[in-house]
Amino acid sequence: MPKVLIVDDEKGLRQGTKRLLESEGYEVDTAENGTEGIKLGTENDYDLAIIDLKMPDIDGIEVLKEILNKRPNTICFIATAYASYDTAIEATKIGALSYIPKPFSPDELLGNLKTGYEKRLLLLEAEKLRKEREERLLEISFEKTRLNTIVNSIIDGVVVINKNGELVLTNPAALKYFDIDNAIIGEYILEFLPEKISALIKKILGNPTFTGTSYSEQIELKPNRELVGDVSVSPVPHHDGTVAGVVLVINDITELKKIEYIKSQFVSMVAHELKTPVAAVLGFIRIILDKKINIPEDKKTDYLSRSQNRLESLISMVNDLLDISRMEIKTKQREIRDVNIKEIIVSIIEFLELELKKKNVTINTEFEEEHPLISADQNEINRLFTNIIGNALKYNKDGGEISINIKTSRKFIVTKISDTGIGMKPEEKNKLFQEFFRAKNDKTRDIPGTGLGLSIVKRIVESYSGKTEVESEYGKGSTFTIYLPKKI
Ligand code: ADP
Repeated sequence: MPKVLIVDDEKGLRQGTKRLLESEGYEVDTAENGTEGIKLGTENDYDLAIIDLKMPDIDGIEVLKEILNKRPNTICFIATAYASYDTAIEATKIGALSYIPKPFSPDELLGNLKTGYEKRLLLLEAEKLRKEREERLLEISFEKTRLNTIVNSIIDGVVVINKNGELVLTNPAALKYFDIDNAIIGEYILEFLPEKISALIKKILGNPTFTGTSYSEQIELKPNRELVGDVSVSPVPHHDGTVAGVVLVINDITELKKIEYIKSQFVSMVAHELKTPVAAVLGFIRIILDKKINIPEDKKTDYLSRSQNRLESLISMVNDLLDISRMEIKTKQREIRDVNIKEIIVSIIEFLELELKKKNVTINTEFEEEHPLISADQNEINRLFTNIIGNALKYNKDGGEISINIKTSRKFIVTKISDTGIGMKPEEKNKLFQEFFRAKNDKTRDIPGTGLGLSIVKRIVESYSGKTEVESEYGKGSTFTIYLPKKI
């Protein structure tokens, strides 16, 4: 039922109109002056209002303004006996639907109200649609923000490109891989990407229909394996079955590639180190077995004993390698208990007694009275110091000296092992602790070894969160300092 407000100071007309409209099914309120008209018209949402132009307190134009200001969807008519062209124009300018000259016939009035009410329904419908659209927009923008937040927090790089090769979306992680810091959304971007990647993108975008086939490529994004990415390029489908664009996802595989590289280096090094002694022994055996070469018996013995030496060092190398591999894959069962470094060193010195005498090397030890313990596997600590003290003897001069002292610092037990041996050149010292590294000079030529001892030392020390320092002077001697954390 349409609601109508009649604002008119003429009582007869007010009541007459009210009766007429009520008989036609309208719900009607009346106001006898402008002030009351404004009050009713702004407080209630009328469908229609008929406002008299000339009233003693406030004129109709003012009432119209106030009502429309508060209720822009109320359809207002101005009614007056003093119709003038100017006021008609003004009233419609302000927002009145039309002008009804007084006196009006019932048909005239009803006709106007009917049109007005149709307009009112349209306005309400439009308003409803607008509100719905606003709500939907709000929802979309909320969805968009949420999506952006998600994409921005992905640790892999994400770049979305449309079918024209223009940037649609990117996340901060992607900037690490591609030089697109300054690229703006909507900019042609393919030339900023590595050639291999832009070729894959073009391949996908060049396909008229969406196939769902993705490609991926491992790319060195910074030289020397500093940054390697696994870039996957996938098409994004359009609802009509064509390709709307591509999405790139970039995954950092630098660490993986580094490990792969080190592994392959290590394998080729091991193969090389194993091949040399095996080839030498094979050579000796061939000579001995060759019927055409009649080698004297003493030469044969010499070849056999040389083969024996080679094979012995090969066995010790294989044992070292097994140790390294057990440590790496941590299959080695550790027995962690209180270990006293001083006791270990004393027992190593006893063990080496014969060889020390042979080389006429003396050992001086300096231990503090009190010895904090470390928590460790006794065998590993024994292996660690046997390697270092063994080297201090092996690379010493005849009649040389070894000094061992153990001190404690706030966090560590610090063991210093110095020798008066052949020492190392700075470039040799830098390569120490690398697998198979052996200094190659006149002084080391005849000293046997695998080049694995110190890399085992390094692994053991690091596994206990300790550290190793080396000082050395070529021809004078070396000092190895081992820091192992005190037992807490
Ligand atoms: P190995 O002794 O079996 O060769 P290591 O890994 O124990 O293997 O040592 C690697 C290399 O470091 C040795 O070949 C040697 O050149 C050098 N080195 C180690 N300890 C000393 C030392 N105390 N004095 C001089 N050179 C040393």
